[in-house]
Amino acid sequence: MKIYKVGGAVRDRLLGLPVADIDWVVVGASAEAMLALGYRPVGADFPVFLHPDTGAEYALARTERKSGRGYGGFVFHASPDVTLEDDLRRRDLTINAMAEDDDGHVIDPYGGQADLEQRWLRHVSPAFAEDPLRVLRVARFAARYAPLGFRVAPQTLELMQQLSESGELEALTPERSWKEISRALLEATPEVFFDTLEACGALEVLFAEFSALPKPLRKLSLQALHQAAAEEHPLAVRWSALLLHLNSQAVAALSARFKVPRDCQELAQLAAEYHTQAEHAREMDPEALLQLLQAFDVYRRPQRFEGFLHACEMAARAEGRPSWPEGAYLHGAAAAARAVPVKPLVDAGYTGQALGDALKQARLAALTKLL
Ligand code: ATP
Ligand code: MG
Repeated sequence: MKIYKVGGAVRDRLLGLPVADIDWVVVGASAEAMLALGYRPVGADFPVFLHPDTGAEYALARTERKSGRGYGGFVFHASPDVTLEDDLRRRDLTINAMAEDDDGHVIDPYGGQADLEQRWLRHVSPAFAEDPLRVLRVARFAARYAPLGFRVAPQTLELMQQLSESGELEALTPERSWKEISRALLEATPEVFFDTLEACGALEVLFAEFSALPKPLRKLSLQALHQAAAEEHPLAVRWSALLLHLNSQAVAALSARFKVPRDCQELAQLAAEYHTQAEHAREMDPEALLQLLQAFDVYRRPQRFEGFLHACEMAARAEGRPSWPEGAYLHGAAAAARAVPVKPLVDAGYTGQALGDALKQARLAALTKLL
């Protein structure tokens, strides 16, 4: 049996990038042999094992055959006679289909090194079209490596187009999709992910609500997303910056489609609903201002409100405004409302509705001082 480093670890080492996690492929071994060596099986019918000491993933070399719709519809064949070349052939991109042996010798049957040099994201074989997840993966790699000059090969884009038109994208599970989307959003140039999806027709399938925005608004949104990445804002701010110009029903529909985590979903929905108000913050009377702060529950969720302000600020930057003074103003207003102490009112004997009213008056007074 022989063990090789494969996939991202080989690719990123050749690119001179740091390698986070290493995937290994094992050729010439059976599941029984792996178990006898102390490897722990990962899944019942999936030939992947964890190293007894390091916990790293070791997969038996395998081939795949499509057997149904969507991501789950594959039959795996893993046995000691599956070669390294066989295993590499089932991979998505040539730059992901290289292996490296113990001596650092690169095994590259599909031209991965040439494509690395020429900056092509290119499919390995026509079997690429068997897995719709690859549309999202390629778009994600495009977002990650665009700063290095990578782009999708025209023939690969064609296969992505076919997949988008085939209805297969709808068969992806929300979890698999969101995993790719969220990873793409966290890249340095996440707008390239959406540009790539648009170029292959996947945007209108997966992000119909976003795709329906007029082109100038779409461009502004992607620019805001780019800005959010440039300033290293967290996932929820990026997701919100992207969806700021949708209405809140559209945000809800998108969030449900991908089972988006609660923090991202909440912030995006609030941001879509309230960003126009935030733009006029400095013209608001204390009553309206307090209502805005209440909508965000700034007392218990101060960070969420900060995320909102960042999303709005990214949108303002996208429009070419160098600064967004409303941000500091609203930040100050939230701080003032939050600083109103409850205890003196309780000590003074206020309870229930009366306490709520007194607290509101005290907060309004605090906001009035700001104006
Ligand atoms: P990352 O740096 O994002 O981890 P990676 O290339 O290591 O990139 P993984 O998702 O860890 O990506 O997958 C490891 C390898 O498995 C890939 O390099 C690719 O060869 C193969 N692979 C993973 N998912 C697919 C897929 N859906 N279709 C084809 N090949 C895949
Ligand atoms: Mg990996």
